[in-house]
Amino acid sequence: MTVTFEHVTLGQRVLFGAGKAAAHLSAEVGRLGAGRVMVIAGSSEAPLVEKLCAGIDVVLYYNDVAPHVPVGKAEKARAAALAHGIDLVVCVGGGSTTGLAKAIALTTHLPIIAVPTTYAGSEATNVWGLTEASRKTTGVDDHVLPVSVIYDAELTLSLPAGLSVASGLNALAHCIDSMWAPRADPINQALAAEGIRALAGGLPLIKHNPQDLAGREQALYGAYLSAVAFASAGSGMHHKICHVLGGAYNMPHAETHAVVLPHVLAYNAPFAPDAERRIAAALGTADAVAGLEALRSVLAAPTALKDHGLAEAAIPQAVELILPAIPGSNPRPVSAMELEHLLRAAYVGTTPAAPSMPRKESSHA
Ligand code: NAD
Repeated sequence: MTVTFEHVTLGQRVLFGAGKAAAHLSAEVGRLGAGRVMVIAGSSEAPLVEKLCAGIDVVLYYNDVAPHVPVGKAEKARAAALAHGIDLVVCVGGGSTTGLAKAIALTTHLPIIAVPTTYAGSEATNVWGLTEASRKTTGVDDHVLPVSVIYDAELTLSLPAGLSVASGLNALAHCIDSMWAPRADPINQALAAEGIRALAGGLPLIKHNPQDLAGREQALYGAYLSAVAFASAGSGMHHKICHVLGGAYNMPHAETHAVVLPHVLAYNAPFAPDAERRIAAALGTADAVAGLEALRSVLAAPTALKDHGLAEAAIPQAVELILPAIPGSNPRPVSAMELEHLLRAAYVGTTPAAPSMPRKESSHA
């Protein structure tokens, strides 16, 4: 059998090391020759910034960060960067903070150094997102890809256990969706499988002890791999669902992913046997759906969309918004009825059943 694929690898510098972020940041700012640095960090991440930025000159500290990057906040941040003659943006925080830096880079083409403190993975993608009037728009532009990413697991120690679990499951969702996303290929599937292995190893350690640095490092490494896989493979069914729920109903990003993931896996698994086998192997179990459930149980993962702000009455409209966005590459066809069934199960928190349908060979896995 021959193997044919087209794969794009995005170029960025990755510096990984616990306790090394300040030194890495100072070296990167010097390497890029930047003289007018803007540092973006939300209020939760503010305590990390003083030590992190001790070795660099900062012209502007900026903290007006909000989930899903509202357009008004993006415009304010762009204006601030221009008014201060900024030549480099450093973002310290989760996907919301990275998202604001990307919004600036989208129109100004300023370079970004990202210092992630969650497992969202936005730092390793060239995808931007903006929200206006309850609709989230995303796009792809290489100008928003951070030129450098600095990973330091010590910066994630303050991320509460519950948020760590939800964010880690968001990263796991990047990996699982990458197995059948529109541009899935052997390279991004291999990255995704290694990401699943690392996250499934690291997250239980964090759940047991949020100060476990080895667990934090595994999760951060897995989160990076997950994002690289996702950037390359594109958005699959799972991300299309969560994207609509986040943008239209202002639902929390990580928790929404954490709840929806087992339902999409159970839905697709019988139609994607190769992907199912790879996910199961990476989780160290015989069955992917059961393996994910076992992991979610250890992590006490979020279970129901109703707990995270979705109103039951919104489900029919959500189905209408999501259905046209499901990629044609999805291993299993999706009807409005099936999608509504899936969303209702995720809404109440029903445990997805292990696949009972006959397995069908698929070329997407
Ligand atoms: P977030 O950035 O909103 O962070 C969640 C919460 O954790 C916030 O309250 C934040 O202040 C807090 N926090 C972050 N780091 C902390 C730390 N170390 N200690 C204590 N608290 C901390 O959420 P997120 O899940 O990281 O990112 C979600 C956003 O990222 C969404 O808007 C999503 O669309 C976007 N995203 C984009 C991409 C992309 O490729 N463009 C990929 C993934 C996520």
